[in-house]
Amino acid sequence: MIKADVQKAFNAQINEELFSAYLYLSMVSYFESQNLKGFASWMRAQVIEELTHANKMVDYLNERGGEVKLEAIGKPDATWKSPLAAFEAAYKHECHISACINDLYAKAVKAGDNAAALFLNWFINEQVEEEASADEVVQNLKLAQGAPGALFMLDRELGTRVPAVSVNAPAE
Ligand code: MG
Repeated sequence: MIKADVQKAFNAQINEELFSAYLYLSMVSYFESQNLKGFASWMRAQVIEELTHANKMVDYLNERGGEVKLEAIGKPDATWKSPLAAFEAAYKHECHISACINDLYAKAVKAGDNAAALFLNWFINEQVEEEASADEVVQNLKLAQGAPGALFMLDRELGTRVPAVSVNAPAE
């Protein structure tokens, strides 16, 4: 059985992951409005991954005999002043999520919940990737600034991304 304070922290993180999906879905629409279909496709892959993160935590809480308590999801921004500004916001958000996961891990360790700490190892590793992949696009966009041809090529490249996992088959 999972302890009440660890359960509460997991529920808060489920909300964070669902907000991440919501934020990136908003970015999908922003990029579609800018006719940047590759950027939109990249973000949609991110939406699916965030839903998978939330699903993994829901499954885990249930497996541990905990109670999933879904709260209201915050309203994300709807627009950004440039593709670079959107990806800078995505990178900043992933840094925030990394801090949340670290806090959750610390709570699990403090509660002596080794099983939860081990479960969270996957998320700790995932956050290294999440920060790196958002930052890579930020850096590419900085290089492409003022060169429409480079933006066009980057859009083509980002459109090739496929989600690492699907909602229906959460990764172990
Ligand atoms: Mg996530």
